[in-house]
Amino acid sequence: MKITDLKCTVLGNNPVIRITTDEGISGLAEVEGSKHYLKPHILFYKQHIVGEDPTNVERVMLKIRRLGSFKPWGSSVSAIEMALWDIAGKAAGLPVYKLLGGKIRDKVRVYNGAVRFPMDGNSPEAYAANMEKMKAAPEGFTIIKQGIAFHSGMPREVPDFFYGEMQKGAFGTGRGPLTERGLKHTVACVEAMKDVLGDEVGLALDCGPGLTVPDAIRLAKAVEPLNVMWLEDMITGDYVPYVLADLYREVTQSTSTPIHTGEQIYLRQNFKDLIEKHAVNVIGPDPCDIGGIAELKWVAEHADLHGILMAPHGTGDGLIGLAALVQMSATLPQNYIAFEYPVGRPEWWYDIVEGLPDPIVEDGFITVWDRPGMGVELNAEATKQYLPEGDEAFFD
Ligand SMILES: [Mg+2]
Repeated sequence: MKITDLKCTVLGNNPVIRITTDEGISGLAEVEGSKHYLKPHILFYKQHIVGEDPTNVERVMLKIRRLGSFKPWGSSVSAIEMALWDIAGKAAGLPVYKLLGGKIRDKVRVYNGAVRFPMDGNSPEAYAANMEKMKAAPEGFTIIKQGIAFHSGMPREVPDFFYGEMQKGAFGTGRGPLTERGLKHTVACVEAMKDVLGDEVGLALDCGPGLTVPDAIRLAKAVEPLNVMWLEDMITGDYVPYVLADLYREVTQSTSTPIHTGEQIYLRQNFKDLIEKHAVNVIGPDPCDIGGIAELKWVAEHADLHGILMAPHGTGDGLIGLAALVQMSATLPQNYIAFEYPVGRPEWWYDIVEGLPDPIVEDGFITVWDRPGMGVELNAEATKQYLPEGDEAFFD
């Protein structure tokens, strides 16, 4: 079998790729909705993969893996990897999880990082009221993640929150030392959320990036009695193109609160320090950023050897990304906690993707399906009305 084409379109905000072959089998993959601008970057790789056998996934990846980088630039390579696995599974007549070594769980736990309700301010009361709604969501999540500190409206809207200045622009976020008031406000919001959740639902917190090491330690120690699942991305994370494992290690060694990072990191080599230095307790790579599902699986096994837990990121990965997360997570070792459940936006995404269970999430879990490949398809007829001008040949 040979790859004949790499196509890319943008559905809603999510780039979607389709790799076609000379045997009529094609593979699909999706990129985060925040990366709608990646289409030209994705198409750059076409010249490197056409003519290759897509079922030799690793051999194809060797040609392009070096031509990627941290978030967002690893997404293009990651999408190609996942589309190749989709083809390989369809060619073998097997679900992708079988090609990764088989599933060790029949249903995968997900955590809520995408089913959101508008926040009415940044007070502890607002956090509690918002958490009530997420706790009551029909998905029955057993873990809910919420943004606080620099991963929230607090630095802009809580007076004297930190000794610094917010930068303008979507990615010009804040960084700097918290005031005592800022730290106390943050802890009060966490306490308010825990009052709602009790010990019935786990609470994870996305915190930055942008905290200093002393503030990260103070926050982690202050919430120790609250048994939060993890504190995410306090020092680096998100779109930060480096890791700073030594700083994380200092924080992690100072507290019993689990420390988490990793969603922006590309390739196993860039997890080596975090894992081997025991710099964090939990890592959260995203299959759509790390370099694909087999890359993430390898990192999960390496992490397990070092006593580090897995909570893969996925909030913006869309419904085709969701299928990849399910197939992969079914195979991860027992250091797996849950992956971050993505939703389809706009709503019509649910009308164009075929193959997902209905409802998708029950009691906080998704049952792993058994169709060949990733097991989801785009309904071409239903999708055509959403294809941007110029992409009419996407399904040809
Ligand atoms: Mg995060």
